[in-house]
Amino acid sequence: MKNTVDITTFEADIEQLVQNQRAYFNSNATRPVEFRLEQLKKLKKLLLKHEDELHEAIYNDFGKSKYENQLTEFFPLIDEINIALKNLKKWAQHKSVKTNLLNFPAKSYLVPEPLGVTLVIGAWNFPYNLSLTPVVGSMAAGNTTILKPSELPAETSAIMARLINENFDPNYLRVVEGAIPETTALLNQRYDKIFFTGSPMVGKIVNKAAAEHLTNVTLELGGKNPSIFAKDASLNVSVKRMIWAKFVNSGQFCITTDYALVHKDIKDEFLRLAVKEIEKNNFSMENNNFVRIINHRNFDRVVNLIDPDKVYYGGTYDRDERIIHPTILTDVSLDDAVMQEEIFGPILPVIEYETIDEAFNIIKRFEKPLAAYLFSDSTAIKERFLHEIPFGSGGINDSVMQVSNPNIPFGGVGHSGMGRYHGKYSFECFSHFKGILDKPTAIETNLKYYGYSEKQMKVIHKLS
Ligand code: NAD
Repeated sequence: MKNTVDITTFEADIEQLVQNQRAYFNSNATRPVEFRLEQLKKLKKLLLKHEDELHEAIYNDFGKSKYENQLTEFFPLIDEINIALKNLKKWAQHKSVKTNLLNFPAKSYLVPEPLGVTLVIGAWNFPYNLSLTPVVGSMAAGNTTILKPSELPAETSAIMARLINENFDPNYLRVVEGAIPETTALLNQRYDKIFFTGSPMVGKIVNKAAAEHLTNVTLELGGKNPSIFAKDASLNVSVKRMIWAKFVNSGQFCITTDYALVHKDIKDEFLRLAVKEIEKNNFSMENNNFVRIINHRNFDRVVNLIDPDKVYYGGTYDRDERIIHPTILTDVSLDDAVMQEEIFGPILPVIEYETIDEAFNIIKRFEKPLAAYLFSDSTAIKERFLHEIPFGSGGINDSVMQVSNPNIPFGGVGHSGMGRYHGKYSFECFSHFKGILDKPTAIETNLKYYGYSEKQMKVIHKLS
């Protein structure tokens, strides 16, 4: 009964919050670029001032070290704010486009305008980055924002809520904490934009809720990301890059390699180098380059994907500590449990192939992945990879680093998501571009007006 009362109160509070944010948005307070810049500067200052507490919270949640937090969360987030601060005036300007002859004389341009009240729902694996980077885009575009971080890293969720809610006007920016019932209640309201990061399964729930109000939605989801190692791959450097990217954050990384497709002629050397790289990195909590699995539910799920008969390396774990050591599986078949879902943990299944067509066909058996990687120096194979395999973003001879370039839009395709963000794409993601034809009144051609003649038609035809 208590829960029923609580969630009813929560729903009423959320309804009020959304109404207040809509009224604030309609007052035009968020539209001036100066206001947006001021708020972004305030957010940056707040994050920098509390950097140590933010590091401590994420360490307490799943053991992510300060160094790794800075590298994968904090600096990229501050960088996103800096990019917005530097470019916002330019982004917010009208964008001229050509006017066609039929409409001459006139000016044509696009006017970026904020969408209104936005809801951002974050995932847990990079909780600051995945919650606050979209918020930066929403603020830059001039919206009001409600952020619902993932509840799984409880301390990071709490610190984001405390810092933001103590320092920002709730009518403008508010963090609402909660799990499924609270997110469900949030999704019952009408927004002008929902930005969701998480699993395809929950993405469908979000998309359905958004459809109820025809709300614009961006879905940043996941999938089974392949890494193809062609026969000609420069193996030393390729394996080094892929192994680091695979095991950073203990494989809890939406764009990391889910499975490796390795040409049969290089498989032995690939495995030798993979083990060497894992051992050289010495992934461990003590070395600040490994993290705990987020909770026991995920720990059990990932451990269940390890078939002991197929363990080539690793396969060991500590449930009390929620640590799964880097694991390589070989002789993996597409029917194995590990190939039935996104792994999202430190297990690397290796699948051998003979021809590039065989590798491509394996990838095409799955939904379109969020990322894909090719390790090869062959122009022909690169071309085929780029033009035959659909995926959100990816790399050639590298893994995950595309995410660190803010000039490359980040997002999925099909089952791995819709929409894109980062850098100027975040601004665009949270804006509508109003198309305007702006005519002077001094001149008027009478071509379109009634009284049609063959001659008139010929001119219109030529001008169209
Ligand atoms: P998740 O879908 O379980 O949770 C994401 C968010 O949805 C959380 O805030 C959670 O509270 C909420 N949620 C969960 N169940 C819900 C429900 N039934 N109704 C309403 N809300 C619900 O995802 P996760 O476990 O946090 O993250 C892992 C997934 O996210 C993986 O699939 C991964 O690939 C994907 N991911 C994608 C990106 C990206 O940028 N594309 C980044 C990180 C993670």
